[in-house]
Amino acid sequence: MSDIASESSRRRTFAIISHPDAGKTTLTEKLLLFGGAIQMAGSVKGRKAARHATSDWMALEKERGISVTSSVMQFPYEGRVVNLLDTPGHADFGEDTYRVLTAVDSALMVIDVAKGVEERTIKLMEVCRLRDTPIMTFINKLDREGKDPIDLLDEVETVLGIQCAPVTWPIGMGQRLKGVVHLVTGEVHLYEPGRNFTRQDSTIFPSIDAPGLAEKIGEKMLADLRDELELVQGASHPFDLEAYRAGRQTPVFFGSGVNNFGVQPLLDFFVEHAPPPQPRETTTRKVAPQEDKLTGFVFKIQANMDPMHRDRVAFMRVCSGRFEAGMKTFHPRTGKPLKLANALTFMASDREIAAEAYPGDVIGIHNHGTISIGDTFTEGENIAFTGIPNFAPELFRRARLRDPLKLKQLQKGLAQLSEEGATQFFKPLMSNDLILGAVGVLQFDVVAYRLKDEYGVDASFEPVQVNTARWIRCKDAKTLEAFRDKHAMNLALDAADQLVYLAPTRVNLQLAQERAEGVDFLATREHA
Ligand code: GDP
Repeated sequence: MSDIASESSRRRTFAIISHPDAGKTTLTEKLLLFGGAIQMAGSVKGRKAARHATSDWMALEKERGISVTSSVMQFPYEGRVVNLLDTPGHADFGEDTYRVLTAVDSALMVIDVAKGVEERTIKLMEVCRLRDTPIMTFINKLDREGKDPIDLLDEVETVLGIQCAPVTWPIGMGQRLKGVVHLVTGEVHLYEPGRNFTRQDSTIFPSIDAPGLAEKIGEKMLADLRDELELVQGASHPFDLEAYRAGRQTPVFFGSGVNNFGVQPLLDFFVEHAPPPQPRETTTRKVAPQEDKLTGFVFKIQANMDPMHRDRVAFMRVCSGRFEAGMKTFHPRTGKPLKLANALTFMASDREIAAEAYPGDVIGIHNHGTISIGDTFTEGENIAFTGIPNFAPELFRRARLRDPLKLKQLQKGLAQLSEEGATQFFKPLMSNDLILGAVGVLQFDVVAYRLKDEYGVDASFEPVQVNTARWIRCKDAKTLEAFRDKHAMNLALDAADQLVYLAPTRVNLQLAQERAEGVDFLATREHA
C-alpha cells in the first residue's frame, strides 16, 4: 500500500450531532482524554474559558450559553488518527453545522436517556441522510433515571427511521446502574464512578456467566438481565457492518459521559468499524482518497479567530493525496495558484503548524478574503467538489448605521462576516441598502455584536420587505439582460457578486418565476 493509502485508511473523521445539553461537550472531552490529547477531564471547558478570555465577542456566546464556534480536534487512538469536527449546538447556526457534516465520513449521535429523540437531533439526522452518512448512537446519562432502553430503541427506529443494533446494553439505570454488557464480545463492564479511565482501570468480566459477577451486581439483577437480554436479542437487529456503512443501521451504546462510563467500548468499536475517508464527487469525476495528488475543499471559514492577527482561517478537508507545508496548489475558482504556507493543523491541544496532512485531515489556511466556502484546491486539475450547500436565508434585515461615516467599515465587516457562511449579505442593484439574510434571528444579534467588537461599527438591523431569496441562473445572455431590466428593483448581488432575486412575498416570487421563461430560480447556491 502506498503511504497515502495507508495513512488515509487509518483516518476516522467524524462529528457529534445532538440536541443541546445531551452531553456533546462532555463526551468530546472524554474522547480526547482517551486519545491522550488532554491530561485531565475539564480541559475542554478550560480551553473554552481561555478562548473567552482572548476573544471578547465570545462573551456573547457565554452570556447566552451557546456555542457558536466550531473547531477541529485531532488525536491518535489505537493506531488510528481520529479527527473530530465540532458542530455548533444552537439551532440558529444550522447552516454551519450542515456544512461540517459534508466534511465528515461518519457521525456520532448523542441522546439523553431521559429526553429521547429531540427536535434538533431529528433535523441533523435529516442532513446526515442526504449523504447516507453512517451514524453511531450513544445514549447518555445512564446514571440518571430515564426511558426504558427498549422503548428508546423503538423511538429511534420510528422517529428517525433507522434500524438500531445495540452493541452495549445497560444493566440497570440511575441509582441501580451496575454496568453494561457488550453484546458482540460478551464482556460485562462494571460501572464504577471515578474509574473507567482505561481498560486497566475498569472491572471487566469476560461474560455474564463469569464467576464473581453475581456478587457484584446481585443475583436478582443478573437473573433479570438474562431475561432482558433474551428479549433484546430476539427483538433487535444484530450489528451489520454493511447496513451501518450504508446509513441504514445505527450501532447503539449506553453510558454516562460525565462518569466516563461506556465511552471506551464506544471508541474501540468506532475506530474499528467507522469508515475511513471515502471517494468524493466532483463536477467531473469521483476522487479517491489514495490518489497521489492533493485535493480538498473548504467547508468553513472563520474570521478573526485570533484577535491579535485579524486573520481569516479557511478550514479545508483533505480528500486525496498528501499535503505538505508550503506546497503550491491550484485554486480552480479563481484559476490562480495559491501557496499553502503556514497552514494549521488542529491537534486537540492547540492549533499548530501543519507539516503534512492526509485524506480525512483538516488544515486551516490563512487568507484575506480570496477563499470562499465550497472552494476546491488541487495540484492543477480543474475540478470542483460538489454538495456543499449554501441555503437561502429565511430572515432579512436592513443594516442601519448610527455613524454614516463608518459605511466602508460596515460593508467590510458584513462582507467578511458573511464569508463565514452563517449569514449572507446582499447589495440591491437599485439602492444603497445593505441587506443581511440569516436562517435564525439570533444571528443578527451576533453580527451586530461582532461589528461593534471587531470592526468598531455601531449598527442595528431593521425589518425590510423581503420574504425570500433565489439565486438566478440563466444560460442565455439576452434573456438574462431582459430579466435584469425588468426586475432591477428586486435584484441584488450577494457577497460573491452572484445575482439574487429578493422577493417581497411568496406570491411575487411565484409570479416572477412563471413569467420568466429560461431563467432558473435556485433555493440554494451550491458553491462551484
Ligand atoms: P452539550 O450541550 O450537548 O455540549 O452538553 P454538555 O456536555 O455541556 O452537558 C450538558 C449537561 O449535562 C452538563 O451539566 C453536564 O455536566 C451534564 N452531563 C453530561 N453527561 C452527563 C451524564 O452522563 N450524566 C449526568 N447526570 N449528567 C451529564
